[in-house]
Amino acid sequence: MWRRDFLKAGVASLAAAASGCAAMAQGPARDRVVVIGGGYGGATAARYMRMLDPSIEVVLIEPNEAFVSCPLSNMVLGGFRTMADITVPYGGLAGRGVRVVRDFATAVDMDRKQVRLARGDPVAFDRVILSPGIDFIWSELPAMEGADAQARVLHAWKAGPQTAQLRRQLEAMADGGVFAISIPEAPFRCPPGPYERACQVAAYFKARKPRSKVLILDANDDVLSKGALFKRAWADLYPGMIEYRPNSKAIDVDVRANAVKLEFGDVKADVLNVLPPMRAAAIAEPFVTVNRRWCEVDWISNEAKAAPGAHILGDALLAAPAMPKSGSMANGHGKNCAAAVVALLANEPPNASPTLVNTCYSMVSDRLAVHVASVHKYDARERTMKAVPGAGGVSPAMNELEGRYAMNWARNIWADALS
Ligand SMILES: Cc1cc2nc3c(=O)[nH]c(=O)nc-3n(C[C@H](O)[C@H](O)[C@H](O)COP(=O)(O)OP(=O)(O)OC[C@H]3O[C@@H](n4cnc5c(N)ncnc54)[C@H](O)[C@@H]3O)c2cc1C
Repeated sequence: MWRRDFLKAGVASLAAAASGCAAMAQGPARDRVVVIGGGYGGATAARYMRMLDPSIEVVLIEPNEAFVSCPLSNMVLGGFRTMADITVPYGGLAGRGVRVVRDFATAVDMDRKQVRLARGDPVAFDRVILSPGIDFIWSELPAMEGADAQARVLHAWKAGPQTAQLRRQLEAMADGGVFAISIPEAPFRCPPGPYERACQVAAYFKARKPRSKVLILDANDDVLSKGALFKRAWADLYPGMIEYRPNSKAIDVDVRANAVKLEFGDVKADVLNVLPPMRAAAIAEPFVTVNRRWCEVDWISNEAKAAPGAHILGDALLAAPAMPKSGSMANGHGKNCAAAVVALLANEPPNASPTLVNTCYSMVSDRLAVHVASVHKYDARERTMKAVPGAGGVSPAMNELEGRYAMNWARNIWADALS
Protein backbone atom coordinates (compact mmCIF):
# COMPACT_ATOMS: atom_id res chain seq x y z
CA MET A 1 0.00 0.00 0.00
CA TRP A 2 2.87 2.34 0.74
CA ARG A 3 5.16 1.35 -2.09
CA ARG A 4 4.78 4.38 -4.30
CA ASP A 5 7.77 6.57 -4.87
CA PHE A 6 7.38 9.91 -3.14
CA LEU A 7 9.95 11.55 -5.41
CA LYS A 8 8.06 10.46 -8.53
CA ALA A 9 4.94 12.00 -7.05
CA GLY A 10 6.67 15.30 -6.42
CA VAL A 11 7.93 15.50 -9.99
CA ALA A 12 4.55 14.49 -11.39
CA SER A 13 2.70 17.13 -9.39
CA LEU A 14 5.09 19.84 -10.55
CA ALA A 15 4.57 18.70 -14.13
CA ALA A 16 0.80 18.67 -13.69
CA ALA A 17 0.84 22.15 -12.18
CA ALA A 18 2.93 23.43 -15.07
CA SER A 19 0.72 21.98 -17.77
CA GLY A 20 -2.46 23.40 -16.22
CA CYS A 21 -6.04 22.26 -16.19
CA ALA A 22 -6.32 21.18 -19.82
CA ALA A 23 -3.99 18.31 -19.03
CA MET A 24 -6.57 17.02 -16.56
CA ALA A 25 -8.75 15.96 -19.49
CA GLN A 26 -6.12 13.47 -20.65
CA GLY A 27 -5.32 10.20 -18.97
CA PRO A 28 -3.35 10.92 -15.80
CA ALA A 29 0.35 9.97 -15.63
CA ARG A 30 -0.05 8.63 -12.10
CA ASP A 31 -3.13 7.31 -10.32
CA ARG A 32 -5.73 10.01 -10.10
CA VAL A 33 -8.88 9.92 -8.01
CA VAL A 34 -11.55 12.53 -8.60
CA VAL A 35 -13.78 13.30 -5.62
CA ILE A 36 -17.12 14.99 -6.30
CA GLY A 37 -18.35 17.04 -3.34
CA GLY A 38 -16.28 18.60 -0.56
CA GLY A 39 -18.73 17.95 2.28
CA TYR A 40 -18.40 15.55 5.21
CA GLY A 41 -17.77 12.45 3.08
CA GLY A 42 -15.81 13.85 0.15
CA ALA A 43 -13.46 16.13 2.06
CA THR A 44 -12.60 13.29 4.46
CA ALA A 45 -11.91 10.85 1.61
CA ALA A 46 -9.74 13.39 -0.23
CA ARG A 47 -7.71 14.18 2.88
CA TYR A 48 -7.20 10.56 3.92
CA MET A 49 -6.16 9.42 0.45
CA ARG A 50 -3.42 12.03 0.41
CA MET A 51 -2.31 11.01 3.90
CA LEU A 52 -2.35 7.27 3.10
CA ASP A 53 -0.56 7.53 -0.22
CA PRO A 54 0.87 10.91 -1.29
CA SER A 55 1.68 9.52 -4.75
CA ILE A 56 -2.03 9.51 -5.65
CA GLU A 57 -3.26 12.67 -7.33
CA VAL A 58 -6.53 13.74 -5.72
CA VAL A 59 -8.80 16.25 -7.44
CA LEU A 60 -11.76 17.55 -5.44
CA ILE A 61 -14.62 19.15 -7.39
CA GLU A 62 -16.74 21.48 -5.24
CA PRO A 63 -18.76 24.54 -6.30
CA ASN A 64 -18.72 26.29 -2.92
CA GLU A 65 -15.87 28.53 -1.89
CA ALA A 66 -15.76 27.10 1.62
CA PHE A 67 -17.22 24.21 3.58
CA VAL A 68 -20.33 25.18 5.55
CA SER A 69 -21.39 22.68 8.20
CA CYS A 70 -24.96 21.46 8.57
CA PRO A 71 -24.13 20.24 12.10
CA LEU A 72 -24.38 23.33 14.36
CA SER A 73 -26.31 25.21 11.64
CA ASN A 74 -29.47 24.93 13.75
CA MET A 75 -27.63 27.01 16.37
CA VAL A 76 -27.36 29.80 13.80
CA LEU A 77 -31.17 29.74 13.67
CA GLY A 78 -31.23 29.92 17.45
CA GLY A 79 -28.91 32.94 17.34
CA PHE A 80 -26.18 31.17 19.32
CA ARG A 81 -23.69 30.77 16.45
CA THR A 82 -22.85 32.78 13.34
CA MET A 83 -22.36 31.58 9.77
CA ALA A 84 -18.64 32.27 10.24
CA ASP A 85 -18.60 29.81 13.17
CA ILE A 86 -19.75 26.95 10.91
CA THR A 87 -17.59 27.81 7.88
CA VAL A 88 -14.21 26.20 7.22
CA PRO A 89 -11.98 27.09 4.24
CA TYR A 90 -10.63 24.46 1.84
CA GLY A 91 -7.06 25.71 2.30
CA GLY A 92 -6.18 22.82 4.62
CA LEU A 93 -6.94 20.29 1.89
CA ALA A 94 -4.98 22.28 -0.67
CA GLY A 95 -2.09 22.24 1.82
CA ARG A 96 -2.24 18.43 1.77
CA GLY A 97 -1.83 18.44 -1.99
CA VAL A 98 -5.50 17.98 -2.86
CA ARG A 99 -6.23 19.90 -6.05
CA VAL A 100 -9.44 21.75 -5.14
CA VAL A 101 -11.33 22.73 -8.31
CA ARG A 102 -14.15 25.17 -7.75
CA ASP A 103 -16.68 23.85 -10.26
CA PHE A 104 -19.84 21.79 -10.51
CA ALA A 105 -19.72 18.24 -11.89
CA THR A 106 -22.38 17.78 -14.56
CA ALA A 107 -21.79 14.14 -15.49
CA VAL A 108 -19.65 11.11 -14.68
CA ASP A 109 -18.67 9.28 -17.85
CA MET A 110 -17.67 5.80 -16.72
CA ASP A 111 -16.80 4.67 -20.28
CA ARG A 112 -14.31 7.46 -20.87
CA LYS A 113 -13.43 7.70 -17.18
CA GLN A 114 -14.00 11.43 -17.07
CA VAL A 115 -15.97 13.84 -14.93
CA ARG A 116 -17.53 16.65 -16.95
CA LEU A 117 -17.69 20.08 -15.37
CA ALA A 118 -20.04 23.03 -15.75
CA ARG A 119 -17.20 25.46 -16.55
CA GLY A 120 -13.85 23.72 -16.85
CA ASP A 121 -12.45 20.95 -19.02
CA PRO A 122 -13.35 17.35 -18.21
CA VAL A 123 -11.17 15.65 -15.60
CA ALA A 124 -9.94 12.11 -16.24
CA PHE A 125 -9.79 9.61 -13.39
CA ASP A 126 -8.70 6.11 -12.50
CA ARG A 127 -11.38 5.96 -9.82
CA VAL A 128 -14.11 8.42 -8.91
CA ILE A 129 -15.69 9.05 -5.50
CA LEU A 130 -19.06 10.76 -5.22
CA SER A 131 -20.22 12.35 -1.97
CA PRO A 132 -22.66 14.93 -3.31
CA GLY A 133 -25.21 14.72 -0.50
CA ILE A 134 -28.92 15.06 -1.18
CA ASP A 135 -31.30 16.84 -3.51
CA PHE A 136 -35.00 17.44 -2.97
CA ILE A 137 -37.90 15.67 -4.67
CA TRP A 138 -39.84 18.83 -5.46
CA SER A 139 -42.39 16.98 -7.57
CA GLU A 140 -43.87 15.60 -4.33
CA LEU A 141 -44.77 19.20 -3.37
CA PRO A 142 -45.93 20.46 -6.78
CA ALA A 143 -46.35 24.13 -5.84
CA MET A 144 -42.71 24.19 -4.73
CA GLU A 145 -41.29 23.25 -8.14
CA GLY A 146 -40.65 26.84 -9.24
CA ALA A 147 -37.63 28.94 -8.24
CA ASP A 148 -39.85 31.71 -6.80
CA ALA A 149 -41.57 29.31 -4.41
CA GLN A 150 -38.24 27.80 -3.37
CA ALA A 151 -36.84 31.25 -2.67
CA ARG A 152 -39.77 32.01 -0.39
CA VAL A 153 -40.48 28.82 1.53
CA LEU A 154 -37.09 27.66 2.78
CA HIS A 155 -35.67 24.27 3.72
CA ALA A 156 -32.27 25.41 5.10
CA TRP A 157 -31.33 21.71 4.91
CA LYS A 158 -28.12 22.44 3.04
CA ALA A 159 -26.21 24.83 5.27
CA GLY A 160 -25.43 28.08 3.48
CA PRO A 161 -27.42 31.10 2.29
CA GLN A 162 -30.76 29.55 3.26
CA THR A 163 -29.57 29.13 6.86
CA ALA A 164 -28.88 32.86 7.11
CA GLN A 165 -32.13 33.68 5.29
CA LEU A 166 -34.25 31.53 7.62
CA ARG A 167 -32.63 33.23 10.60
CA ARG A 168 -33.61 36.60 9.12
CA GLN A 169 -37.19 35.39 8.69
CA LEU A 170 -37.27 34.40 12.37
CA GLU A 171 -35.84 37.78 13.40
CA ALA A 172 -38.45 39.59 11.31
CA MET A 173 -41.35 37.60 12.77
CA ALA A 174 -43.45 39.45 15.35
CA ASP A 175 -43.77 38.09 18.88
CA GLY A 176 -46.84 35.84 18.99
CA GLY A 177 -46.12 34.34 15.59
CA VAL A 178 -45.88 30.68 14.61
CA PHE A 179 -42.84 28.89 13.19
CA ALA A 180 -43.85 25.62 11.53
CA ILE A 181 -41.44 22.94 10.38
CA SER A 182 -42.66 20.20 8.05
CA ILE A 183 -40.76 16.88 8.20
CA PRO A 184 -40.92 14.32 5.38
CA GLU A 185 -41.21 10.58 5.76
CA ALA A 186 -37.92 8.83 6.61
CA PRO A 187 -35.34 8.30 5.27
CA PHE A 188 -33.90 11.81 5.04
CA ARG A 189 -30.69 13.63 5.95
CA CYS A 190 -30.13 13.77 9.73
CA PRO A 191 -33.06 12.08 11.51
CA PRO A 192 -32.70 14.15 14.75
CA GLY A 193 -32.06 17.43 12.89
CA PRO A 194 -35.64 18.72 12.64
CA TYR A 195 -36.33 18.13 16.33
CA GLU A 196 -33.10 19.88 17.26
CA ARG A 197 -34.17 22.75 15.02
CA ALA A 198 -37.47 22.99 16.90
CA CYS A 199 -35.48 23.30 20.17
CA GLN A 200 -33.19 25.98 18.77
CA VAL A 201 -36.04 28.11 17.42
CA ALA A 202 -37.89 27.68 20.72
CA ALA A 203 -34.77 28.77 22.64
CA TYR A 204 -34.71 31.94 20.56
CA PHE A 205 -38.42 32.56 21.07
CA LYS A 206 -38.15 31.93 24.83
CA ALA A 207 -35.48 34.61 25.11
CA ARG A 208 -36.82 37.16 22.61
CA LYS A 209 -40.41 36.36 21.50
CA PRO A 210 -42.02 34.48 24.39
CA ARG A 211 -45.58 34.54 23.04
CA SER A 212 -44.54 32.71 19.87
CA LYS A 213 -45.04 29.04 19.03
CA VAL A 214 -43.16 26.22 17.31
CA LEU A 215 -45.28 23.71 15.43
CA ILE A 216 -43.74 20.41 14.28
CA LEU A 217 -45.65 18.74 11.45
CA ASP A 218 -44.13 15.29 11.16
CA ALA A 219 -45.03 12.87 8.35
CA ASN A 220 -43.76 10.06 10.57
CA ASP A 221 -45.76 8.53 13.40
CA ASP A 222 -43.30 9.52 16.12
CA VAL A 223 -40.04 11.39 16.74
CA LEU A 224 -37.44 9.42 14.76
CA SER A 225 -34.39 9.78 16.98
CA LYS A 226 -33.79 10.42 20.69
CA GLY A 227 -37.59 10.70 21.04
CA ALA A 228 -37.91 10.55 24.81
CA LEU A 229 -35.03 13.01 25.25
CA PHE A 230 -36.48 15.55 22.82
CA LYS A 231 -39.95 15.29 24.32
CA ARG A 232 -38.50 15.85 27.77
CA ALA A 233 -36.56 18.89 26.55
CA TRP A 234 -39.69 20.35 24.92
CA ALA A 235 -41.73 19.87 28.11
CA ASP A 236 -39.08 21.04 30.58
CA LEU A 237 -37.33 23.84 28.69
CA TYR A 238 -40.13 25.20 26.52
CA PRO A 239 -43.43 24.40 28.28
CA GLY A 240 -46.45 25.27 26.14
CA MET A 241 -44.30 26.55 23.31
CA ILE A 242 -43.70 23.48 21.11
CA GLU A 243 -46.56 21.49 19.62
CA TYR A 244 -45.76 18.11 18.03
CA ARG A 245 -48.16 16.67 15.46
CA PRO A 246 -47.22 13.20 14.16
CA ASN A 247 -48.75 11.64 10.98
CA SER A 248 -48.90 15.09 9.38
CA LYS A 249 -47.50 14.54 5.92
CA ALA A 250 -47.24 17.58 3.64
CA ILE A 251 -48.82 16.89 0.26
CA ASP A 252 -48.19 20.40 -1.05
CA VAL A 253 -47.55 24.00 0.00
CA ASP A 254 -49.74 27.07 -0.47
CA VAL A 255 -46.85 29.43 -1.07
CA ARG A 256 -48.95 32.61 -1.18
CA ALA A 257 -50.70 31.79 2.11
CA ASN A 258 -47.50 30.44 3.76
CA ALA A 259 -49.35 27.22 4.54
CA VAL A 260 -48.57 23.51 4.42
CA LYS A 261 -51.25 21.40 2.78
CA LEU A 262 -51.93 18.25 4.76
CA GLU A 263 -54.37 15.50 3.83
CA PHE A 264 -56.97 16.98 6.20
CA GLY A 265 -56.60 20.73 5.66
CA ASP A 266 -54.02 23.50 5.57
CA VAL A 267 -51.79 24.75 8.39
CA LYS A 268 -50.66 28.38 8.18
CA ALA A 269 -47.50 29.75 9.73
CA ASP A 270 -45.70 33.08 10.00
CA VAL A 271 -42.40 31.42 9.22
CA LEU A 272 -42.74 28.20 7.27
CA ASN A 273 -39.85 25.76 6.99
CA VAL A 274 -40.51 22.82 4.68
CA LEU A 275 -38.13 19.87 4.39
CA PRO A 276 -39.08 18.19 1.12
CA PRO A 277 -38.61 14.44 0.57
CA MET A 278 -34.98 13.75 -0.32
CA ARG A 279 -32.91 11.63 -2.67
CA ALA A 280 -29.28 11.23 -3.71
CA ALA A 281 -28.03 14.45 -5.34
CA ALA A 282 -28.48 14.68 -9.10
CA ILE A 283 -24.92 13.85 -10.12
CA ALA A 284 -25.32 10.43 -8.49
CA GLU A 285 -28.39 9.60 -10.58
CA PRO A 286 -26.66 6.98 -12.82
CA PHE A 287 -25.67 5.09 -9.67
CA VAL A 288 -29.13 5.10 -8.06
CA THR A 289 -30.45 1.56 -7.66
CA VAL A 290 -33.18 1.83 -4.98
CA ASN A 291 -36.60 3.48 -5.28
CA ARG A 292 -35.14 5.96 -7.77
CA ARG A 293 -33.66 7.65 -4.71
CA TRP A 294 -30.55 6.03 -3.23
CA CYS A 295 -27.30 4.35 -4.31
CA GLU A 296 -26.27 0.89 -3.14
CA VAL A 297 -22.63 0.06 -2.48
CA ASP A 298 -20.39 -2.80 -1.49
CA TRP A 299 -19.69 -1.79 2.12
CA ILE A 300 -16.11 -3.07 2.01
CA SER A 301 -15.00 -0.51 -0.56
CA ASN A 302 -18.02 1.81 -0.96
CA GLU A 303 -17.92 0.82 -4.64
CA ALA A 304 -21.24 1.45 -6.37
CA LYS A 305 -23.23 -1.65 -7.24
CA ALA A 306 -24.20 0.08 -10.47
CA ALA A 307 -20.64 0.78 -11.68
CA PRO A 308 -17.27 -0.63 -10.65
CA GLY A 309 -14.68 2.12 -10.34
CA ALA A 310 -17.19 4.59 -8.85
CA HIS A 311 -17.44 4.86 -5.08
CA ILE A 312 -20.28 6.57 -3.21
CA LEU A 313 -20.33 8.03 0.29
CA GLY A 314 -22.59 9.80 2.72
CA ASP A 315 -26.21 10.78 2.44
CA ALA A 316 -26.51 9.65 -1.20
CA LEU A 317 -26.34 6.02 -0.05
CA LEU A 318 -29.04 3.58 0.76
CA ALA A 319 -28.04 3.36 4.39
CA ALA A 320 -27.46 -0.03 5.99
CA PRO A 321 -29.99 -1.06 8.70
CA ALA A 322 -29.96 1.39 11.65
CA MET A 323 -27.33 3.56 9.97
CA PRO A 324 -28.30 7.26 9.97
CA LYS A 325 -27.61 9.78 7.24
CA SER A 326 -25.18 11.83 9.30
CA GLY A 327 -21.96 13.79 8.98
CA SER A 328 -20.39 11.41 11.47
CA MET A 329 -21.30 8.45 9.24
CA ALA A 330 -20.20 10.20 6.03
CA ASN A 331 -16.84 10.91 7.67
CA GLY A 332 -16.54 7.18 8.46
CA HIS A 333 -17.50 6.23 4.89
CA GLY A 334 -14.84 8.69 3.67
CA LYS A 335 -12.05 7.05 5.69
CA ASN A 336 -13.10 3.52 4.82
CA CYS A 337 -13.36 4.39 1.15
CA ALA A 338 -10.02 6.23 1.09
CA ALA A 339 -8.25 3.16 2.53
CA ALA A 340 -10.06 0.85 0.11
CA VAL A 341 -9.27 2.98 -2.95
CA VAL A 342 -5.60 3.26 -1.96
CA ALA A 343 -5.48 -0.55 -1.59
CA LEU A 344 -7.30 -1.21 -4.87
CA LEU A 345 -4.99 1.12 -6.78
CA ALA A 346 -2.06 -0.83 -5.36
CA ASN A 347 -3.74 -4.12 -6.45
CA GLU A 348 -4.22 -5.11 -2.85
CA PRO A 349 -7.47 -6.26 -1.19
CA PRO A 350 -9.27 -3.70 0.96
CA ASN A 351 -9.99 -4.41 4.63
CA ALA A 352 -12.62 -7.17 4.56
CA SER A 353 -14.12 -6.29 7.92
CA PRO A 354 -14.74 -2.54 8.24
CA THR A 355 -16.27 -0.98 11.35
CA LEU A 356 -17.91 2.43 11.47
CA VAL A 357 -18.90 4.52 14.48
CA ASN A 358 -21.61 7.15 14.65
CA THR A 359 -22.22 9.86 17.24
CA CYS A 360 -24.86 12.52 16.74
CA TYR A 361 -25.24 15.33 19.26
CA SER A 362 -28.32 17.53 19.32
CA MET A 363 -28.30 20.90 21.04
CA VAL A 364 -31.61 21.26 22.88
CA SER A 365 -30.73 24.77 24.11
CA ASP A 366 -27.73 27.09 23.85
CA ARG A 367 -25.74 24.83 26.21
CA LEU A 368 -27.55 21.53 26.82
CA ALA A 369 -27.15 18.53 24.53
CA VAL A 370 -28.20 14.92 24.05
CA HIS A 371 -26.53 12.27 21.92
CA VAL A 372 -27.11 8.97 20.18
CA ALA A 373 -24.21 6.66 19.32
CA SER A 374 -23.91 3.36 17.44
CA VAL A 375 -21.24 0.99 16.09
CA HIS A 376 -21.70 -0.68 12.70
CA LYS A 377 -19.69 -3.73 11.67
CA TYR A 378 -19.52 -5.52 8.31
CA ASP A 379 -21.42 -8.80 8.25
CA ALA A 380 -19.79 -10.98 5.59
CA ARG A 381 -22.74 -13.37 5.38
CA GLU A 382 -25.33 -10.67 4.74
CA ARG A 383 -22.88 -8.33 3.00
CA THR A 384 -24.10 -5.33 4.89
CA MET A 385 -23.11 -3.23 7.90
CA LYS A 386 -24.96 -4.25 11.05
CA ALA A 387 -25.35 -2.37 14.30
CA VAL A 388 -23.37 -4.08 17.06
CA PRO A 389 -25.81 -5.00 19.86
CA GLY A 390 -25.02 -3.29 23.15
CA ALA A 391 -22.59 -0.81 21.61
CA GLY A 392 -23.70 2.81 21.70
CA GLY A 393 -26.97 4.13 23.11
CA VAL A 394 -28.42 7.50 24.08
CA SER A 395 -27.77 10.07 26.83
CA PRO A 396 -29.48 9.38 30.14
CA ALA A 397 -30.67 13.00 30.15
CA MET A 398 -29.88 16.35 28.54
CA ASN A 399 -26.81 17.89 30.12
CA GLU A 400 -24.25 20.63 29.82
CA LEU A 401 -21.16 18.41 29.62
CA GLU A 402 -22.45 16.92 26.37
CA GLY A 403 -23.02 20.44 25.11
CA ARG A 404 -19.27 20.93 25.43
CA TYR A 405 -18.60 17.53 23.86
CA ALA A 406 -20.80 18.56 20.92
CA MET A 407 -18.66 21.64 20.25
CA ASN A 408 -15.49 19.55 20.49
CA TRP A 409 -17.00 16.91 18.18
CA ALA A 410 -17.54 19.63 15.58
CA ARG A 411 -14.04 21.04 15.89
CA ASN A 412 -12.52 17.56 15.71
CA ILE A 413 -14.50 16.35 12.73
CA TRP A 414 -13.81 19.57 10.79
CA ALA A 415 -10.09 19.05 11.46
CA ASP A 416 -10.38 15.37 10.51
CA ALA A 417 -12.00 16.26 7.18
CA LEU A 418 -10.47 19.57 6.23
CA SER A 419 -7.19 20.38 7.94
C1 LIG B 1 -29.72 21.00 10.21
C2 LIG B 1 -28.81 19.82 10.15
C3 LIG B 1 -28.13 19.40 11.28
C4 LIG B 1 -27.28 18.31 11.22
N1 LIG B 1 -26.62 17.93 12.36
C5 LIG B 1 -25.79 16.86 12.31
C6 LIG B 1 -25.05 16.50 13.48
O1 LIG B 1 -25.15 17.11 14.54
N2 LIG B 1 -24.21 15.43 13.37
C7 LIG B 1 -24.05 14.73 12.23
O2 LIG B 1 -23.27 13.77 12.21
N3 LIG B 1 -24.75 15.05 11.10
C8 LIG B 1 -25.60 16.10 11.11
N4 LIG B 1 -26.29 16.47 9.97
C9 LIG B 1 -26.19 15.62 8.76
C10 LIG B 1 -24.97 15.94 7.91
O3 LIG B 1 -24.92 17.28 7.58
C11 LIG B 1 -24.99 15.12 6.63
O4 LIG B 1 -25.30 13.78 6.92
C12 LIG B 1 -23.64 15.19 5.93
O5 LIG B 1 -23.43 16.53 5.50
C13 LIG B 1 -23.56 14.22 4.75
O6 LIG B 1 -22.31 14.34 4.13
P1 LIG B 1 -22.20 14.22 2.53
O7 LIG B 1 -20.76 14.24 2.21
O8 LIG B 1 -23.04 13.08 2.07
O9 LIG B 1 -22.94 15.52 1.99
P2 LIG B 1 -22.56 17.05 2.22
O10 LIG B 1 -21.83 17.23 3.49
O11 LIG B 1 -23.83 17.81 2.02
O12 LIG B 1 -21.58 17.39 1.03
C14 LIG B 1 -22.01 17.38 -0.29
C15 LIG B 1 -21.13 18.33 -1.09
O13 LIG B 1 -21.23 18.00 -2.47
C16 LIG B 1 -21.28 19.17 -3.21
N5 LIG B 1 -21.91 18.83 -4.50
C17 LIG B 1 -23.18 18.43 -4.73
N6 LIG B 1 -23.37 18.18 -6.04
C18 LIG B 1 -22.19 18.43 -6.65
C19 LIG B 1 -21.75 18.38 -7.99
N7 LIG B 1 -22.57 18.00 -8.98
N8 LIG B 1 -20.47 18.72 -8.27
C20 LIG B 1 -19.61 19.09 -7.28
N9 LIG B 1 -19.98 19.16 -5.98
C21 LIG B 1 -21.25 18.84 -5.67
C22 LIG B 1 -22.07 20.14 -2.35
O14 LIG B 1 -21.78 21.49 -2.71
C23 LIG B 1 -21.57 19.77 -0.95
O15 LIG B 1 -20.46 20.56 -0.56
C24 LIG B 1 -27.12 17.59 9.99
C25 LIG B 1 -27.82 18.01 8.85
C26 LIG B 1 -28.65 19.12 8.92
C27 LIG B 1 -29.37 19.56 7.67
